[in-house]
Amino acid sequence: MAAYAPPLRDLDFVLHDVLRAAEMPIPGYDELDRETTRAILGEAGKLARDVLAPLNAVGDREGCRLENGVVRAPSGFKAAYDAVATGGWIGLDLDPAYGGQGMPHMLNTAVGTMHAAANMALNMYWGLTHGAYNAIHEHGSAEQKATWLPKLVSGEWSATMNLTEPHCGTDLGLLRTRAEPQADGSYAITGQKIFISSGEHDLTPNIVHLVLARIPGGPAGVKGISLFVVPKFLVHDDGGLGPRNGLSCGKIEEKMGIHGNSTCVMNYDGAIGWLVGEPHKGLRAMFTMMNEARLAVGVQGLAQADAAYQVASVYARDRLQGRAVTGAENPERPADPLIVHPDVRRSLMDQKAFVEGGRAFVLWACTYIDAHQRGGDAGANGLISLLTPVVKGFLTDKGFEMTVQAQQMLGGHGYIEEWGASQFVRDARIAMIYEGANGVQALDLVGRKLGADGGKPVMAFFEMVKVFIRENEGEERLKAGFLDPLKAASKDLQAAAMFFMQSGMKDPNAALAGSTDFLHLFGHVCLGYMWARMAKAALEGSDDFHHAKLATGRYYMARCLPATTLHLARIQSGAEPVMALPAEAF
Ligand SMILES: Cc1cc2nc3c(=O)[nH]c(=O)nc-3n(C[C@H](O)[C@H](O)[C@H](O)COP(=O)(O)OP(=O)(O)OC[C@H]3O[C@@H](n4cnc5c(N)ncnc54)[C@H](O)[C@@H]3O)c2cc1C
Repeated sequence: MAAYAPPLRDLDFVLHDVLRAAEMPIPGYDELDRETTRAILGEAGKLARDVLAPLNAVGDREGCRLENGVVRAPSGFKAAYDAVATGGWIGLDLDPAYGGQGMPHMLNTAVGTMHAAANMALNMYWGLTHGAYNAIHEHGSAEQKATWLPKLVSGEWSATMNLTEPHCGTDLGLLRTRAEPQADGSYAITGQKIFISSGEHDLTPNIVHLVLARIPGGPAGVKGISLFVVPKFLVHDDGGLGPRNGLSCGKIEEKMGIHGNSTCVMNYDGAIGWLVGEPHKGLRAMFTMMNEARLAVGVQGLAQADAAYQVASVYARDRLQGRAVTGAENPERPADPLIVHPDVRRSLMDQKAFVEGGRAFVLWACTYIDAHQRGGDAGANGLISLLTPVVKGFLTDKGFEMTVQAQQMLGGHGYIEEWGASQFVRDARIAMIYEGANGVQALDLVGRKLGADGGKPVMAFFEMVKVFIRENEGEERLKAGFLDPLKAASKDLQAAAMFFMQSGMKDPNAALAGSTDFLHLFGHVCLGYMWARMAKAALEGSDDFHHAKLATGRYYMARCLPATTLHLARIQSGAEPVMALPAEAF
């Protein structure tokens, strides 16, 4: 199996030549000079390549085991987790007041692209801690922050998010877990949660569960849900571990991928918990961490595509099959390598163009999280809310598609386990489902985000693309290959938005029937915009890396971006073709 190669040159290019991060007027970005980011990303890359990636297949093969109520993570996971925690990686972008390093979220995401590519299942054990940290940091009391945050930041303890129940996943208004108020101000939590990632394991001595539950007497539906912190072990005043709390892992799920991560049924039997934030406002509290969490899942889709592409590109250069249609390129050997065949190239270019475009997209999107969180920029918050479902939905749908393309490159050797291509496909698949299934991301984009704040965020996006095109139109080397296709695709996106505004009001089914197409159309325009910006930056260099950037970008604009026309046609066909049949006809 090919070793994972951290894409350090590309990250450096995106951060400094494309985004010009150190010059961005965002607090803390002035520290992101090339030397600093090279040092940090270089170390993160080594950890990914030497520690995390070698355990990827191990985790897949061994999976997790439930033994007497304890979940055993795969061999080597504990030592790798400890290396991540002691290296300070879990708190890279977290608050220094609790032991974090306070670096921008964008840098943490750049690190995450490598760690998730090297070993997605293992990476999740601290990825979820990050989300729980955010909820407590934003909504918890001073005492809760002091109790939980330092140990989450250091990685001494890990955390989970408990939303899903057997009868409710997307529709959390149906949630039944109860939280009975106790005389001492705590709550007794009773109910069953399913599919809880990292719900139980032996990597940390304590696990901090964030649980959504109902306080009796509260409003029905989503307005009556509260958020609780419910630790596996109670904690003494001095911070030491106390007695075991009333919760247990009833089962771990057998599943398609991410075998190294424990997906648990969690039973809460009067477990002691404490309210985080206000009663009945739990869903709102949980949603404040959604932008980051959903971006992190988008990164998983991208990361699996990156890892799979790396295997496919090595294989396509090694494997000898057939002859180039234009004459033997390798006459001294019995056959030419796969890479000479145009259809193989097409697939590799699809993958390469997606991975590099997606990498720029997600890092660019993170600058809006930082601009909002560190700089209080309300406009940035509007934009990141708009872009979040696109990052999550597009990068995971396409990321999965790219892992399948990579697997296809290997023929039968992609289907068997030896090369690892099959694992990338299986692992990537879940990212389309959890943290809000992609159909629901599309619904969120069209139903909520498009019209949010009177449409200001989407107008700001259109304006940004328009200004970029206008400012660079004089550059002949960009015009036909990049700016003209971007202009056409952006027009398709505007026409789709207009269609929703005009017909969505009259017929909501028309808007929702086109929602997934709209999400993909939007994703393509974002990647087109990123490729145009990367091309502009690449024109300033002249080595092989820059030439490859321009060629890959031209490929994206010529071969991938025209998908916007198809998406627009589908959107404009409205609800009728989709909803024509009665339910009984299926
Ligand atoms: C491996 C794994 C790990 C997970 N980790 C966690 C975790 O850590 N914590 C946690 O709380 N949950 C977790 N989940 C649960 C996951 O978030 C849910 O499975 C997901 O939200 C979907 O819920 P559901 O399975 O109940 O599907 P449903 O809600 O039943 O949806 C089924 C399908 O219908 C579609 N759909 C539903 N409603 C609509 C609508 N209004 N419009 C359009 N389409 C719709 C959905 O897109 C989906 O494709 C995990 C799941 C898995 C498999």
